[in-house]
Amino acid sequence: MDSYYTQYGIPREAARIPKRQTKGKARYARGKETKEVIAPQIIQDYRRLFVNRPAYTLQSARPHPETGRHYYFTPKKVGTGVPVELTESTIRRHLEGEVTIGLYAINPDNQRCKWLAIDADYQNAMEDLLKLQYRLTQDGVEPALELSRRGGHLWIFLARPLLAKDCRVYIHDIALRLGVPVKGSGLSEGIEVFPKHDSIEPSAFGSALRGPLGIHRAANRRFWFHGADYTVDAQIAYLNGFRKLTEHELEKLIAGKERLKLDNSPQERSTASGRRARTARLEFRILEYVAPLRKVGRNYVTRCPSCAELGHDRSGDNLAILIRDPRFYKCWAGCAKEMIRAALGCPTHMEIA
Ligand SMILES: [Zn+2]
Repeated sequence: MDSYYTQYGIPREAARIPKRQTKGKARYARGKETKEVIAPQIIQDYRRLFVNRPAYTLQSARPHPETGRHYYFTPKKVGTGVPVELTESTIRRHLEGEVTIGLYAINPDNQRCKWLAIDADYQNAMEDLLKLQYRLTQDGVEPALELSRRGGHLWIFLARPLLAKDCRVYIHDIALRLGVPVKGSGLSEGIEVFPKHDSIEPSAFGSALRGPLGIHRAANRRFWFHGADYTVDAQIAYLNGFRKLTEHELEKLIAGKERLKLDNSPQERSTASGRRARTARLEFRILEYVAPLRKVGRNYVTRCPSCAELGHDRSGDNLAILIRDPRFYKCWAGCAKEMIRAALGCPTHMEIA
């Protein structure tokens, strides 16, 4: 692992858990007295950079008993079923490492996003991220590189929220020209672009990404942006200094570029989108997310999205959906419902008091 970091000029320290952080882990895990104090201004800055809408997800503190994975849930008020809105207090707890939030890219009120993120988590991910970073810089775009377990995320900040579909055109065009693989275009490995959809329905959430600078529950550590000291203060100050892409600049960058058919928007696969959009509801319908379907006996059969994430189920028949009542579906390889929902960007809900 060290080799590809050092090969591209990223210091070894950045790729490893730094000393300060090892200490920090214990600090953040227990004992309020020593944790980094998060100033109100830092919370404001974080909100301005990353928070595009009140809805958010929480990463489960405990791993799923069967899969060992820490899934993200939409926190809801007990009894009411109403999603809890992201408050400054929750942002502070995220930055202090007490909880870990996931942030949605698109605000359905205007179909715009505040940031673009390119997620790469596969064997040569860092190589592809650095290629993208270099190419983006040539366009005058300044992406920030956040390291992750196997690769990282490139974040591009926007001066004002921009249309999700325009952002996607830009990144997909660059990836195509660089030969960087994009996951979902028939490939099981490749970059994932957030926002993942061109647009979402009024009641929909879209896809969430782990909020930067929080503690990843499974890894039990923070992942930092490359280029600044490993404290929340220094990292936010560093991010504040990045150039923000404007609408005018993006328009120029995508002028004449084709929209690739990589849209995951559920409404594109349905004819009843208008009606559904008017009946705002939160019910999950798996048939809006999976395709193509075959009929086998009483079931529809298709590729399990959770298996697909791991490059499995190439024959595309692990997921069975009951035709009579599509609320019932099952992966024959044993993926839990939470895994399937998470793979579709529609995490299941968890009630919190
Ligand atoms: Zn599966």
